[in-house]
Amino acid sequence: MCGIAGAFDVERAFFVLHDLLLHLQHRGQESVGIVMDNFTSIKGHGLVKEVLTEKSFIEGHTGIGHVRYSTVGGPEEIQPLVGYTGKGKLAIAHNGTIPDASHRRETFLERGAVFSTTVDSELFLHYVSIAPFEDSLESVLWALQTVPAAYSLLVLNEDFMIGARDPYGYRPLFWGKYDGGYVLASEDSALVVLGASDITEVERGQVIILEKGKSPKIQKLSVDRPGRFCVFEYIYFARPDSNLGGINVHKARFEMGRWLYKEHKIQADIVIPVLDSGLSGALGFSSESGIPMDFGLMRNRYMGRTFIMPTDRKSSVRKKLIPIPEVVKGKDVVLIDDSIVRGSTMGVIVSMLREAGARKVIVGIHSPPVKYPCFYGIDTATRRELIASDHTVEEIRETIGADELFYLSIEGLIKAVGREDVCLACLNGHYDTWVPEVDSGV
Ligand code: AMP
Ligand code: SF4
Repeated sequence: MCGIAGAFDVERAFFVLHDLLLHLQHRGQESVGIVMDNFTSIKGHGLVKEVLTEKSFIEGHTGIGHVRYSTVGGPEEIQPLVGYTGKGKLAIAHNGTIPDASHRRETFLERGAVFSTTVDSELFLHYVSIAPFEDSLESVLWALQTVPAAYSLLVLNEDFMIGARDPYGYRPLFWGKYDGGYVLASEDSALVVLGASDITEVERGQVIILEKGKSPKIQKLSVDRPGRFCVFEYIYFARPDSNLGGINVHKARFEMGRWLYKEHKIQADIVIPVLDSGLSGALGFSSESGIPMDFGLMRNRYMGRTFIMPTDRKSSVRKKLIPIPEVVKGKDVVLIDDSIVRGSTMGVIVSMLREAGARKVIVGIHSPPVKYPCFYGIDTATRRELIASDHTVEEIRETIGADELFYLSIEGLIKAVGREDVCLACLNGHYDTWVPEVDSGV
């Protein structure tokens, strides 16, 4: 999971990119980078506000940026990547993962290519190099055509900026007008907050070409694939104020909570959201069931994200979420969260609520069990780490120590989101591309 942003022909592009990336920070907190069209760059580990400071300001009207939450490649390999291709120097910012990257890489290595990173995104630079065209723009289009998934991608050189979504449309991308130029971002909410106008979703398989001194051009990649927008963007990743495929993310989560109650008519005294990810779903569950919602868990906003902390995740959860005994004591509580991945977070929360005096702890999850890994750009862990890959719901309930555990069905999820052209591979194991079989387990 990553966030990408572009600013084309605007005043002080550095600050525009700063603002866009700040509003995409939830998509990645490991590193930040921006590259201008003259290839000056600022990159660093940490948060946007730590890397893109007044002191690190670089001049320029056009640039691309990236916030990273690494799925492939080491954390030192900060995007946007810059490469000298056979068609000139290029910078790229990529959100997504290429599932067959290792095969593609092997093919290049056998031909004598040398890679300077382990990031799958570097493959795009190599494809541009070998494209059967002289022209760099044609070569980029050829490279996009050659890699069917999964990407939302920004490509920059001295003459043009390109924004593209793969033909399946796994990852989001939007563009709009700003300050006489154009801006692009992974989520529309970042463009809205910036004050951009004419905000439009880049369609799957669409390529937006911005050239200096010319009107934007839109091209379509000629690949016939089904629409597979990542349903997890609605469940967990995207900001609640974003609108993806015309569907508001908060509303989709609210509906997931409603459908969860329609499918499981649970009796309880209070609904407690697991902050922040379970809030919209808990509101929906409470509104459908009539069970009042209360904040039985306080969240320490100054702790980082527990999911990605490599060591001692359990004690991090204890520091991040703190129960309020006055709310839960003697009550049958139903906790609502968006998902269970490895199961470590929920187990800790259940025991904390019991220690705080809850009589019954019931857990409702507003997505179906995550049974299969993602190969399209989301770090949902390997199959072995996914608790639902080899445990039944009853076994998971026992592991997390809940009195009851229930999930939303896949049908309920689709009804709640209101669109069918979504990827469900981590939930049902149906991948639409080649994936590494050993790990997927399908
Ligand atoms: P776990 O402890 O592994 O079960 O983590 C589940 C929690 O992490 C849930 O509260 C989700 O909100 C959150 N979550 C789910 N998927 C991801 C992901 N890919 N990256 C970061 N957090 C996630
Ligand atoms: Fe999203 Fe899951 Fe598909 Fe990955 S496998 S793109 S997380 S829906």
